[in-house]
Amino acid sequence: MSAKGKLLILPGDGIGPEVMRQVRRIIDWLGRRRGTAFEVKEGLVGGAAIDAHGVPLSDATLADAKTVDAVLLGAVGGPKWDKIEFDKRPEAGLLRLRKELELFANLRPAIVLDPLVDGSPLKADIVKGLDIMIVRELTGGIYYGEPRGIKDLGNGIRQGVNTQLYTNTEVQRVARVAFELARKRGRKVCSVDKANVMESGLLWREEVTALHQAEFTDIELSHMYADNCAMQLIKNPRQFDVIVTDNLFGDMLSDEAAMLTGSLGMLPSASLGALDANGHRRALYEPVHGSAPDIAGRDIANPIAALFSFAMCLRYSFEMGTEADLIEKAVSQVLKGGMRTSDIMAPGMARCSTTVMGDSIVRALDKLSV
Ligand code: NAD
Repeated sequence: MSAKGKLLILPGDGIGPEVMRQVRRIIDWLGRRRGTAFEVKEGLVGGAAIDAHGVPLSDATLADAKTVDAVLLGAVGGPKWDKIEFDKRPEAGLLRLRKELELFANLRPAIVLDPLVDGSPLKADIVKGLDIMIVRELTGGIYYGEPRGIKDLGNGIRQGVNTQLYTNTEVQRVARVAFELARKRGRKVCSVDKANVMESGLLWREEVTALHQAEFTDIELSHMYADNCAMQLIKNPRQFDVIVTDNLFGDMLSDEAAMLTGSLGMLPSASLGALDANGHRRALYEPVHGSAPDIAGRDIANPIAALFSFAMCLRYSFEMGTEADLIEKAVSQVLKGGMRTSDIMAPGMARCSTTVMGDSIVRALDKLSV
């Protein structure tokens, strides 16, 4: 059996290794039951890499990350490394990875599965069936723009400066990702900006509109101001299919959308980069949650965010939508059957461990693919 592609797994710290163990089981399952094998390498990142190599991401691991088709990451960080200087901490390893792989588009789906609809802080009739995708520009905008800093203007006056900068090419490449995604989903994109008060927002809107006119007229495009979008996500979130927005607004709106689903342990993400010479897009897939030191080592973490991240990997890096659907369906069935890790526990359901959740999902996959 020839390998479908190369994966680098970086389990990281805390619950990272625990949830990635369950991902590994699904990878093995695909090889065993669907004839799709991957060449898998494992590496260290974050605190685990600091302990082994003195740095949160070694050059060798970075080089591996640049040669594989996709990186699957668990989570980094923990109290053990909290006293280390900022640029040498576990999180710096992840930031370096994102920067070196030029991952400019961050995809965060917010999906409310029927069995978990009561876990949302919003009423069931507002969020039932919710399935939206937020595409956040990740490498530009105000978090990176120069000049930045804090200036002393004299006479006791201090000034903090950050600069929102976007070029037309930065806007076009992230908008293209959003339009292409919409083609595989509900064919609607809502572009979010503050074109009413920011020139960078005006440029954003003009560039998204021009790209739409040139290449994506089959997609319905709308524009919305970021403040209105924040309200609409609560009032009527199902009006959205794909939302595309800049780094700053995306940071906030994706967290807001995440909370509509009610649980951190269920939320996957993908970060996509530029196409390489072979037309292949660099990519990193990781759960939204962190290393959860409070529950690490107890086999109680929810592995579903990591499993859904792997499903995104199959869908976006390997065009394996059928297998991605299968994983999502298996998870849904297990939840429907009443199995719950502690974070999504509800009255009348059966509390289970990370491993038992993994067992149940593998069994559901077996049943689905007979
Ligand atoms: P966290 O996401 O690790 O945990 C927040 C809360 O959610 C905790 O109570 C935790 O037990 C719970 N939780 C998280 N994931 C869960 C899961 N899969 N199943 C069940 N419960 C889960 O955020 P935090 O506590 O703010 O940060 C802990 C560490 O993780 C810090 O060192 C932080 O820097 C790091 N962090 C890393 C990433 C990343 O690797 N991408 C993201 C966020 C935080």
